[in-house]
Amino acid sequence: MQTKDQKPLKIKLEAELAQLSNDIMTVVTASTQDDYSQLQLLLQTQPQSLWPELLEGKSSGVLKQKQQRLEQVLAALGQFQMGLFGLCAQCDSPISPEALNHDPATLLCDLCQSQKKAGAKSS
Ligand SMILES: [Zn+2]
Repeated sequence: MQTKDQKPLKIKLEAELAQLSNDIMTVVTASTQDDYSQLQLLLQTQPQSLWPELLEGKSSGVLKQKQQRLEQVLAALGQFQMGLFGLCAQCDSPISPEALNHDPATLLCDLCQSQKKAGAKSS
């Protein structure tokens, strides 16, 4: 179910995707690590949807944060494509507009989000 209200969120996500791509490229380009020059070439030639995979295991620190965020933003945009945006990825409940406005890449409803947090704490 897509409503007109969600369009600004999609625009926000697309803007963040562009920003993240830019940031990741900057970090990789600036790095002096040997294997990053090859990675840079891969990133330049592969679609962004494959970036999290390309960066997997290669990224650390700030790049890892960006990689994880990129994955989340791509997942949210994927939900848009499937017409599932705004629905919890776990239980299909609608995600609150407050949560989506706070972070358009939110993939879980409040309940699943709090359960995930509780689970992360106890493990
Ligand atoms: Zn849920």
